[in-house]
Amino acid sequence: MAKVTDDGTVMAIQANYYWVRLDQCPQIPLLCTRRTRLKKMGQKVMVGDRVKVELPGSLLPLPKQGPATVNINHLAEGDLGAIAKCYPRQSVLDRPPVANADHICLVFSLADPPLDEWQLSRFLVQAEATGLSLTLCFNKQDLVDQTAIATWQGRLQAWGYDPVLVSVQGRRGIEDLSHCLANKISIMAGPSGVGKSSLTNALVPGVEQRVKQVSGKLRKGRHTTRHVELFPLPNGGLLADTPGFNQPDLVIPAAQLIQLFPEARRRLATQSCFFKDCLHQGEPDCAVGSDWERYEHYLTFLAEAQANQTPENQRESDIGAKTKMGSHGQAYVEPKLETKKYRRPSRRQTHQDLQEFCGEDGMEQLREDLETF
Ligand code: GDP
Ligand code: ZN
Repeated sequence: MAKVTDDGTVMAIQANYYWVRLDQCPQIPLLCTRRTRLKKMGQKVMVGDRVKVELPGSLLPLPKQGPATVNINHLAEGDLGAIAKCYPRQSVLDRPPVANADHICLVFSLADPPLDEWQLSRFLVQAEATGLSLTLCFNKQDLVDQTAIATWQGRLQAWGYDPVLVSVQGRRGIEDLSHCLANKISIMAGPSGVGKSSLTNALVPGVEQRVKQVSGKLRKGRHTTRHVELFPLPNGGLLADTPGFNQPDLVIPAAQLIQLFPEARRRLATQSCFFKDCLHQGEPDCAVGSDWERYEHYLTFLAEAQANQTPENQRESDIGAKTKMGSHGQAYVEPKLETKKYRRPSRRQTHQDLQEFCGEDGMEQLREDLETF
């Protein structure tokens, strides 16, 4: 008999188990294993992956609402979903490890900590290097006056950005930001103390409670391989609970760096430099020139990129190659042949495996997850 399947998105990974949000039944994330065939192919499954899931008999017909029917204490393989296929990825991020992210929400605060233009520029360049779409968000607008806000807005517009202004404290601008995140898979990035967790809490109702539970228990649990979780946003879209690239070190091919500055990119779209390999450091007839505010940033980052240049990243001349398209997607991984025969785990074995991987705290968390999802 043909298996009943549905497509879904991997929201979190705990040990060798996957929480999948099914397209047809999104209100109940389903705990899944990965089919041995995928393991043999060396096909890893990441948070954010789009997968095809064979549904457990216990979940059929698919309920429209209510808690999952799995009882963790009597868990058998048949109660779990099984990931049978992982669809090709649109993007892969390393930090946090998320597949198919398509948006970066870069958060800075206007004060406390004060906005540092060099740090902002560095984060912007790093965000541009991922090749993903980008929203710049300025938080804590309650701490500065209108003149300061207008000055920063003017500067950022010259840099090629139109920041969204918010204040978590005053609950201002959250709707605007929420609109920018709708129907996207977003990663928040930015320095610490700017209000990323506060914003996540404002955007995802109930997330505070869950994150606290997880960091209190599961993240301390042994053998826990869970790094990141995606949360559904109320008006569509998913948001990672772990921030991305916290200390950006620029490992970017020097020749590509200029393309990560929108204000320079704009000039290069309509004019060419005299030298084909122009690095825009004052060469004659350079289309980029030096009459732009971040020129000094560009020169500094260029020196850094040249110092960080390794033969490897020189070859990888395509910026964002790592994060774009399926070149690193699992669909292209060579099958790894294994001779170990698959043995269907017994009910007790499954329970023991879970216990071994998650630890007692992790098991408790799983039970809670099953109850509260
Ligand atoms: P994170 O390190 O980026 O996650 O920052 P947090 O969310 O932990 O926030 C750092 C501090 O800034 C906390 O004390 C927050 O209460 C405070 N904070 C966050 N948003 C605002 C805001 O809009 N206005 C003000 N005045 N303080 C804020
Ligand atoms: Zn040039």
